[in-house]
Amino acid sequence: MVTADLSSRMQRVKTALADAAVDGLVVCPGSDLRYLTGYDAESFERLTALVVPTDGDPQLVVPALELAEAERSPAALAGMDVRTHGDTEDAYALAAQSLPAARRVLVDDHMWAQKAFALQSAMPKARLAAAGSLLSDLRMVKGPDEVTSLRRAGAAIDRVHSRMAQFLKVGRTERDVAADIADAIVAEGHVRADFVIVGSGPNGASPHHSVSDRVIEAGDPVVVDIGGTTAAGYCSDCTRTYVVGSSAAPDFVEYYEILLEAQRAQCDLARPGLTAESLDRVGRKVISEAGYGDYFIHRTGHGIGLDTHEEPYIVEGSTLALQPGMAFSIEPGIYLPGRHGARIEDIVVLAGDGAERLNTTTRELTILEG
Ligand code: ZN
Ligand code: ZN
Ligand code: ZN
Repeated sequence: MVTADLSSRMQRVKTALADAAVDGLVVCPGSDLRYLTGYDAESFERLTALVVPTDGDPQLVVPALELAEAERSPAALAGMDVRTHGDTEDAYALAAQSLPAARRVLVDDHMWAQKAFALQSAMPKARLAAAGSLLSDLRMVKGPDEVTSLRRAGAAIDRVHSRMAQFLKVGRTERDVAADIADAIVAEGHVRADFVIVGSGPNGASPHHSVSDRVIEAGDPVVVDIGGTTAAGYCSDCTRTYVVGSSAAPDFVEYYEILLEAQRAQCDLARPGLTAESLDRVGRKVISEAGYGDYFIHRTGHGIGLDTHEEPYIVEGSTLALQPGMAFSIEPGIYLPGRHGARIEDIVVLAGDGAERLNTTTRELTILEG
């Protein structure tokens, strides 16, 4: 992580805090903390928090036994003040000391409720609120180093998809296939597998099915949606739908081609200046005009970065204008309950007057000789 990026992120946060007329921000371990400090801390019962006064220097408040870890974080190495608390001390009072006389304080959206309430008790005169768009507005526009990291994550998950014939075979259960895929996600360049969806036959009609003991049969369409986190913290997420063992049913082939056309139309149209909802609509229109509109039951996509799902959401009702540097999924699906389903998902990054797809394995219907 580049020190200059950290200081410009902190500067932008403080400007946003001032614009929002709040006195400070408190961030516990999670992707917001990693974004602002480079510190990949775990969340435990003891308080670890970044405290950012709107007019003042930020501090890292950490348990004494985690001092060595905190001091190795990019923010501490760049000179951020680190303050420790022992097990018999009041960690929340220590955090509150950095925000004396604060009346309005924001906390990160994923702070444990227990910690938010304890912080509130330590600052009785302050009103706490979720940071919400204050942080997500910053995080959703990626810098060049972040785009590089997302590109690497995309290439890593593509390598897993390109090995799918090794894993996905007639006679195996979804669970066995998923276990092999999870190992491959790590082997191909992630520090962990975040999720593995193997939806065979009728299970493919449930978009967030994970796995089951169903045995894969010849001719089954199988939705494989997989992702992991890379060492840099950036996530991958890519879906391909395969047919295993023999040719697919004609009704499946018919709607798969429509889905492919919809997803291509969306990737072709994605560009800065377009609103999120108009990008959603273009795919929905292709699918609806072919008569499958009732079977595309979710939004088109989600932003991705240090979290798999983050802003911007590509959804009807969002008039957000897309900007260069935004990274998100384009993942329309068609799901026929009780029968089968299909989804095609690529991560794209907006730049210039278009979108770069970070996933590049074939989207044409692929029959794996199972
Ligand atoms: Zn999803
Ligand atoms: Zn996915
Ligand atoms: Zn996704």
